This record gives sequence, C-alpha cells and structure tokens, in this order.
Amino acid sequence: MITGAAGFLGSHLCDRFIREGYQVIGMDNLITGDLKNIEHLMSHENFEFHHHDVTKFVHVAGKLDYILHFASPASPIDYLKIPIQTLKVGSVGTLHCLGLAKEKNARILIASTSEVYGDPLVHPQNEEYYGNVNAIGPRGVYDEAKRFQESITMAYHRFHGLETRIVRIFNTYGPRMRLNDGRVIPAFIGQALRGEDLTVFGDGSQTRSFCYVDDQVEGIYRLLLSDYSEPVNIGNPDEISILDFAKEIIKLTGTNQKIVFKELPQDDPLQRQPDISRAREILGWEPQVSREEGMKITYEYFKSMSASELEKREHKDFSKHIRR
Ligand code: UDP
Repeated sequence: MITGAAGFLGSHLCDRFIREGYQVIGMDNLITGDLKNIEHLMSHENFEFHHHDVTKFVHVAGKLDYILHFASPASPIDYLKIPIQTLKVGSVGTLHCLGLAKEKNARILIASTSEVYGDPLVHPQNEEYYGNVNAIGPRGVYDEAKRFQESITMAYHRFHGLETRIVRIFNTYGPRMRLNDGRVIPAFIGQALRGEDLTVFGDGSQTRSFCYVDDQVEGIYRLLLSDYSEPVNIGNPDEISILDFAKEIIKLTGTNQKIVFKELPQDDPLQRQPDISRAREILGWEPQVSREEGMKITYEYFKSMSASELEKREHKDFSKHIRR
C-alpha cells in the first residue's frame, strides 16, 4: 500500500512497484494529489485505488506486505495553505499507518524529509545531526509533523518490534510535479513557459541540491528492501545556489526573461546538501542522473503539455478542505 499515491513521489513509486510485479493499493485523499498522475494505472490488474484520507481510520482487507507512507503536502506554499492537514497527516496519519502495519505484520517505510534538519548549522547534513528547527514558524507545521513521524515510527519499532524504514528525502524533482506548488523547479519552469520573469527569493545565495525522481525512487526501493531501521538521507549532493540555478534554467529553456528578486520567505534554509555516505554504504546507492540530464527531461515533459493541460494542473483549489 502506498499512501499519497496520486502525488508526485507516490505516483512514481506506484509505477516502480507495479513494474516489479507487486500488487499495489494506492491511497490518496486528492487534496494535493492528482488522479492524472496515476490514470495510466487505473485499469492495471495489479493496481487498486482507494480514495481515502489517512487521518481517518484506515482499513484495508486482506494481506499487506509493505506500507509506504507518502501522503503529505510537501511544498511550503501547500503547507501554509493547509497547515492543520499537514500536521494531521504526519502525526495522526502516520499513527494509523503504523497501526495498520502492526495489524498486518507489514514492513512500513515512512517519508521523512531534509526539513527535519531545519535551517542547518551543520553542512552537509548527515543523519546524526539533530537539526535546527523553528517549531512555531511557518514551516514548523511540516517540520515538526515529520519529526513526530520519525519519533513515533522508532517507538513502534522499539516497543512493538515493527519493521520500519525512514527515508529523509532531500529536494527531488521530475515529471508530475505540480506547476504551481511553489517549489523552485516547477516555479521556474512554469515562468519560463509562460514567458514570465524568474522569481529568485532573497539574493539567491541560498543553496539546494536537487535529486532526479528516478534516483530518489531507486534509493527508497533499496531502503525498503534493506534491513536498516535508522533514518537514511536520499538526495543528490550536487549543490547549487538558487541564483546560479535560475541562470541554468534561462540557458536550458532559452527564455529571454530576466531574473527578478523577491523577499526571502521566513525560515528559508540558507544551505542544504545531503551527506549520503550512509546510503552509499548500506544501500550501495548513489544518484546516477545529473542535474543537466534530469532538468532536460523535466522541462521537455512540461513543454510537451498543451496549454489547457498545464492550466488544469496548475489550479488546485483547496478551499473546500479549509475549515475556519
Ligand atoms: N525559491 C525561489 N523562487 C521561487 C521559489 C522558490 O527563489 O519562485 C527558492 C526558495 O526560497 C528556496 C529554494 O528556492 O530557497 C527552494 O525552494 P523550494 O520551495 O523548492 O524548496 P525548499 O525551500 O523546501 O527546499
């Protein structure tokens, strides 16, 4: 079972497990996910879709071998719009998935994040680093939900002997990202396609390290099948400043637009780069796809979409999920 199956990473994971011959149950409440990401799987004999919110009790009939918990808003814009749901899916949603795993005697892998390191004071970030997180800042709803998620997962592992895996996912990109989710790669690509200026936040000196989705999925797949229950960073250590990245996008897309500078969001981490020694050692994993190659594939994917398709994918209305 994969939660968040209609999301960016969830849908790529569904594809991978189907390709490996597994029977896959995809679960999603479709707040940020999009059925378009998995429509090609809907008629597949080994795929079943459950439209369900994991923050409600989760019941699945029959046997389950593996659970991958990937349901969560995962971009700063999304978790600012739906902060309570973000907290709930990381906490209550994880509790339900762990309970289900225990009931089914299944192994569970939960999707954690480099955000557990906050605005890091250690560089690059290895798994031993405890992080520098502002619990009450705008990102706190995501960061603390994910930290709680790791904590309760380890508790189930230690107290109930559950087989658990924790992946700390660093910035990942590729086809099926939502163009308006606010993250920098879809933002820049969308702007280039619409002929708009590229918006760099702050002075663009903050850094990120971008991992292509196929590499990320491979790392997650290997971790699930490993016997390692401590957290593992999966990401691409090739670090770049956001300003230099904007220049790369201008070159890639051939846009003649300018770079414009906007205010840096609060608590935006100044630097981020995964230390992947553990993944190399335990999983024999390291990224294979360069940023140049991965960005080319990603840009071509969005470029080949019709304007109306792009428009549809851009407008995701959360208003009916927001209770005031
Ligand atoms: N960013 C930017 N322009 C945008 C969107 C994002 O300069 O239009 C910056 C953002 O401030 C951050 C970096 O790009 O420093 C990566 O942002 P993203 O939201 O993709 O991920 P995260 O901050 O969670 O790593």
